[in-house]
Amino acid sequence: MEDCIFCKIIAGKIPCSKVFEDERVLAFGDIHPQSPTHILIIPKKHYDNLAALDEKDQPLMGHLLHVANRLAKEEGIAQKGYRVTINCGPQGGQVVQHVHVHLLGGRELAGELG
Ligand code: 5GP
Ligand code: ZN
Repeated sequence: MEDCIFCKIIAGKIPCSKVFEDERVLAFGDIHPQSPTHILIIPKKHYDNLAALDEKDQPLMGHLLHVANRLAKEEGIAQKGYRVTINCGPQGGQVVQHVHVHLLGGRELAGELG
């Protein structure tokens, strides 16, 4: 999608600090990290948000979560704990309109929802 910042990152037009890539997803550090580990995991195919995904997209949804889990282990935050968040739509706090999973960890997150 032309005006999508994450599509531009996927296309290599905007740099990112890549931590993982395969044929379906890309993971990179958030530009404004909210915690010592703050990674975004995004599908290479553009979807506006979580609500744009449906039943046929279940393998992709599972894969995004699997990659988050795997990166949590690789980042060394799996044992102490971490948070996986998907913001969806205006009231869900979504700012970038390309579905993405936040992986947050490395500090105490208890009690925070957003
Ligand atoms: P949202 O609020 O949509 O769930 O989260 C969007 C996230 O994308 C924010 O945490 C923001 O810091 C991050 N972000 C926005 N623009 C860029 C960018 O150009 N590069 C990177 N690495 N992260 C970005
Ligand atoms: Zn996009």
